[in-house]
Amino acid sequence: MHAVDIIRRKRDGGVLSAPEIDAFVRAATHGDWPDYQVAALLMAIWLRGMTPEEIAHLTRAMADSGSRFNWSDLPGPKVDKHSTGGVGDKTSLILAPLAAACGVIVPMMSGRGLGHSGGTLDKLEAIPSFRVALSEEELRATLIKVGVGMIGQTRDVAPADKRLYALRDVTATVESIPLITASILSKKLTEGIDGLVLDVKGGVGAFMKRRPDAFALAESLVSVGRANGLRTEALLTAMDAPLGRAVGNALEVIEAIETLKGQGPKELTELSIRLAARMVQLGGLAADGAEAEQKVRSALSSGAGLEKFRQVITQQGGDPKVIDDYGRLPTTPSRIVLRAESAGYIVGLHAEKIGIAAMRLGAGRNRADDVIDPAVGVVLQAEVGQAVKAGDPVFEVHYHDANRLSDALPLLREAIEVGNDPPTATLIVWGEVTE
Ligand code: URA
Repeated sequence: MHAVDIIRRKRDGGVLSAPEIDAFVRAATHGDWPDYQVAALLMAIWLRGMTPEEIAHLTRAMADSGSRFNWSDLPGPKVDKHSTGGVGDKTSLILAPLAAACGVIVPMMSGRGLGHSGGTLDKLEAIPSFRVALSEEELRATLIKVGVGMIGQTRDVAPADKRLYALRDVTATVESIPLITASILSKKLTEGIDGLVLDVKGGVGAFMKRRPDAFALAESLVSVGRANGLRTEALLTAMDAPLGRAVGNALEVIEAIETLKGQGPKELTELSIRLAARMVQLGGLAADGAEAEQKVRSALSSGAGLEKFRQVITQQGGDPKVIDDYGRLPTTPSRIVLRAESAGYIVGLHAEKIGIAAMRLGAGRNRADDVIDPAVGVVLQAEVGQAVKAGDPVFEVHYHDANRLSDALPLLREAIEVGNDPPTATLIVWGEVTE
């Protein structure tokens, strides 16, 4: 089977057979095709798309390019959640302990932030000495003892995706529904889970800026997940303004803990509860959505979720005292407040601009090898819909380096949109895709 024939077939709009897809994934994994041929096929897929059957097969082949976890000997449903990425999205830190407190086993494998969007691993690593690089035995011990383990992608997980993603990044082929679907789900299929809840974000701070595109991605993810034997559901959620008030790693850990204490912002709390309830329901631990939600709410109000988070931190080598003493988390001595320049209503707090500003402060990476500053970030002091006077505080900026601050400030100023009329209220969850 020649690379050039496979590329030509997709270039001309044809459908690739299972052996052709297997040959491509094998070659991508072992380096048998040079970069230019792999990239040519990626671009052909970007331009011509793939049928649901092709995407399902590509996903399976990518998952099988490395090893898979097997937790079938652990009693209880194994369910994870995955977000397509956003700004201020710390729901994983909240919902994983909540779902585990309800009896779900959560082997959560997360990523790092890149560009304007944050990553769960960077947030967890803001907790002093927290370890995200667990061996399989350590993860197993954590799942048995606590019911939830939060780790990074291991070397053996979907190696095909590592090469394909790196090439997509530099060939303008990231924004492709077939390629995103296969990339996300190939990694999730290796987790040894029975169910997956997806939080597919749409809006200015998301991968998919337009809602129809987010909806199409959600449909693709759900159908391909199910075609691979994984019970998959998706919530479609808004990512126009940051989720919650904190953007930046240690700041987001504090907000997640506050939420587990029942004192979090309303939208963040409600979205975390809804996603955790879906995990409980998909895991078969509740008869219906109402019962699942009630279980999650009581795990929150009883403090059981907070206790689980304390246990995860302890089990993964972190300092559990951060839960009662935020002073043990990294912090900055320098802060400034950015204020509204005119009176009116806040009609927008542009998530992508705030995310890039936080990255410029050091909270995220421009390049994969940049070093994170866990302490820096932005705390929103106003929310969309709120009436403001000129001079009212909108952002508190936590920074270390004055040069980085001057890079971030223009974007933060642009991120504040003030209008004469209040914006129409929008829902954080605007749709769902189930079977
Ligand atoms: N996240 C992934 O893991 N892969 C993509 O292609 C996009 C988002």
